[in-house]
Amino acid sequence: MAFDFSHYKKIQDELPAHVMILPVSKTKPVEDLLDAYDNGIKQFGENYVQELVSKAEVMPKDIQWHFIGHLQSNKVKYIAPFVKMIHGVDSLSLLKEIGKQARKNNRIIEVLLQFHIAQEETKFGWSLDDIDQIKKELKDNDVPLVVIRGVMGMASFVDDTTVIRKEFGQLKKCFDGLKSQMSVQFDIISMGMSGDWPIAVEEGSTLIRLGSVLFGARN
Ligand SMILES: *Cc1c(COP(=O)(O)O)cnc(C)c1O
Repeated sequence: MAFDFSHYKKIQDELPAHVMILPVSKTKPVEDLLDAYDNGIKQFGENYVQELVSKAEVMPKDIQWHFIGHLQSNKVKYIAPFVKMIHGVDSLSLLKEIGKQARKNNRIIEVLLQFHIAQEETKFGWSLDDIDQIKKELKDNDVPLVVIRGVMGMASFVDDTTVIRKEFGQLKKCFDGLKSQMSVQFDIISMGMSGDWPIAVEEGSTLIRLGSVLFGARN
């Protein structure tokens, strides 16, 4: 299945105006992305550095690319020349490396701070308990050319919607806890995927990352 534009429109029509859809195209062939592009989609989320770089090379230059996967510091340099936003910033050292690469490329890179809200051990990110420490680190370490736009998180893969709702609520709390110290551009809460976006929106999401409901199931 290629990009399901009618479903995209249907979800968009249901959303409050302050919520944006980021189509997640990881593992999907360039033809599917071009199909979406021809329908007016100008931004995509990707998880893997090599895949993102090779897609960006062959696709139109007016696309805004979001890196939503786990990023190792030594790979920032590959995406820094063109990436619009990096969602998974989970350490000060990664933030600093993004700043270094932004300077090298003389361009602004937007980032989101990733929080660990799920029960699962394997997910990366800071925890709610780290808020004071993060505030201090950010105050002591201004990183020019990096604009911190907000927070990102993933809820547990469980059926129990009360668990999912609680976790999204926690991410909203992280956002609220940081907001007073951040710039006016700190306005994004990236939460919600194909299976849980309606709950995320109810809990305050401003950006939902949708893969399989738009591009079909991944192998
Ligand atoms: C793959 C992925 C998505 C999209 O997942 P779907 O369930 O297919 O919508 C969203 N966010 C992140 C971080 C992902 O890795």
